[in-house]
Amino acid sequence: MTNRTKDALPISVTNVTKTYGSVHALDDVSLEVKSGEFLTLLGPSGSGKTTLLMVLAGFTRPDCGSLKFGDDEVIRKPPHLRDLGMTFQSYALFPHMTVTGNVGYPLRLRGVSKTEIATRVEEALETVQLGGFGNRRIDQLSGGQRQRVAVARAIVFEPRILLMDEPLSALDKKLRDQMQIELRHLHEKLGMTTVYVTHDQREALTMSDRIAVVNHGRIMQLATPRDLYERPANRFVADFIGDSTFLNVTRQGNEVSFNGTKLRFTDALPDTDNITMMIRPERIMLSENGPRDGANNFAATATEVVYQGDSYLLHANLADGTQIAMRGAVTGKSVSSLPSIGDQVTLSIAPEDTVLIDGSEV
Ligand code: ADP
Ligand code: MG
Repeated sequence: MTNRTKDALPISVTNVTKTYGSVHALDDVSLEVKSGEFLTLLGPSGSGKTTLLMVLAGFTRPDCGSLKFGDDEVIRKPPHLRDLGMTFQSYALFPHMTVTGNVGYPLRLRGVSKTEIATRVEEALETVQLGGFGNRRIDQLSGGQRQRVAVARAIVFEPRILLMDEPLSALDKKLRDQMQIELRHLHEKLGMTTVYVTHDQREALTMSDRIAVVNHGRIMQLATPRDLYERPANRFVADFIGDSTFLNVTRQGNEVSFNGTKLRFTDALPDTDNITMMIRPERIMLSENGPRDGANNFAATATEVVYQGDSYLLHANLADGTQIAMRGAVTGKSVSSLPSIGDQVTLSIAPEDTVLIDGSEV
């Protein structure tokens, strides 16, 4: 169906606010989604993700703000005139209809002829790898197949924008992993501007061109998966994405120290005195022969050592009492020399893995 697909459209959201009583579901949100981009809204439950998607779709009218698809202001346009496909948090399929009945529904609403509906439904089903399933009833399908029907229904009229609200949350892990890759391939094939919602950080990292991290109706950071993980803008993002330990450090001018020892780092410091060091478990090295040249070294006491097959997890206490978590690769060598509880160890972190972020809670 690629050849019939219209050009993708960029989306601009400007200063959108939506309140429910005293709840700021969206608090002055501005956001640009590039044409053809796969952008994910990632945030905890209740952070405003669905509300933002509903504003994009036209089912929720914001208190104020502007919304453009390309050059078109659409804030007053009803959903069916916005040329977008959507999958809802629940599949919202019609259980009494066949697969064909469900997928063809948006085309019937648009007055498309019967013969064309038949062709386009079959194309959409092929696209989601459900060719030949048209006559099945919804209750004869597995969870993953229902999900694909919902996607087929969203793309059958070849919208320029596709919105998906937690489409995979009801599936078990294996199927979810598989569908993540499938949806990503589908996006590469169809190229429509896609806004995807999830509360699952790994899903967001796997699928997205960029991720907007949402909390309390505000965007905390909008960046590529790699930048979010490697260089989170603040403590909320660092905490929400991946595992991390935060270390209290002190700044004096352009120097930062921990427990009286200066740290080596490569990045520019954020513009604040309230600095925290973020440490990812897998970026710590266990140095068997004492401090490592050129790295930041921390003396610590092992408090827990857990062998987990593909890796091991070490918990240790630093001099200031901070509990730190480290993850190490299991090799024939490391497995025979894991520290024991109570051992004095040296943990080393390379300057480029020494990430200093704004420590304020936002
Ligand atoms: P998410 O999808 O991130 O879980 P939502 O956008 O559904 O979050 O909700 C954001 C906030 O707005 C929540 O506090 C929620 O309770 C509130 N909210 C959402 N929709 C309504 C509504 N129709 N009426 C009242 N409060 C709502
Ligand atoms: Mg939601």
